[in-house]
Amino acid sequence: MLPAVYNGLVRMLPDVTNVGGSWDERDLYWVMEQAGLHAQAAHPEFLCRSGCNHCCTGDQMPLVSSIEWRVLYPTIYGLPEGSRRLIVRQLREQWGPILHMLLKGHAGYLDGEQLRIVPKAVESCVHCPLLLFGKCSAYAGRPFQCRSFGTFARQAAGQVEPFMCGQARAHIDRNFPTDTALPILNPYESKLVALEGPNPVAALLPLWLAAHVEGADFSQTCTLQPDFGLAVSRLQATLGLTGKV
Ligand code: SF4
Ligand code: SF4
Repeated sequence: MLPAVYNGLVRMLPDVTNVGGSWDERDLYWVMEQAGLHAQAAHPEFLCRSGCNHCCTGDQMPLVSSIEWRVLYPTIYGLPEGSRRLIVRQLREQWGPILHMLLKGHAGYLDGEQLRIVPKAVESCVHCPLLLFGKCSAYAGRPFQCRSFGTFARQAAGQVEPFMCGQARAHIDRNFPTDTALPILNPYESKLVALEGPNPVAALLPLWLAAHVEGADFSQTCTLQPDFGLAVSRLQATLGLTGKV
């Protein structure tokens, strides 16, 4: 029954025209939300719950494209000024010294077979700057990865794997029936890529935030093609760090 529901939702994707813009069957985020709601209604409780935020920490920052940023930034800018300033402060204090490591071409080191970005020594000290008091402050506009992590499965190299943290996987293994079906993320990812068009701009979330900092707050202007290298240099200069980029 449930795969039929999921397939029906995937069949809607050709008519999807926007990301977070219309909140109806033409909206990718809306269709994803229906898939997630069906999965949650049909299964025992998933492990994800409000206040669980391990997937918002350390090396797990979402890669965000301009089409996602166009939805996310107004949500951030719509927060009370005090919240915005706290986000900027967290960005500067936690990510400032390592921001250059997130830039394309600078990023990453191999840890075994896994490509990682955040040095292990500071991993436990950094979290998404949008995480305020343990919760996502921009939940309504959160990016694609954050919307799908925890409820979907992903197909790669012929294998279908739950797209979630290790504890959430273990929870499903222990508590869900062996024939559990989760919505498959791949068609939604393909649709996102198609909507982005050719030459999409994409960067890790802290870089988008850095590109919109103005003093101790965010700029009113949403920029969809920032110079991330320049943004990192400027932010690091205010911290007395130069020559990193
Ligand atoms: S994926 Fe894991 S860390 Fe993230 S909300 Fe779900 S249970 Fe928590
Ligand atoms: S945008 Fe929100 S949900 Fe996504 S990593 Fe940041 S705090 Fe977590």
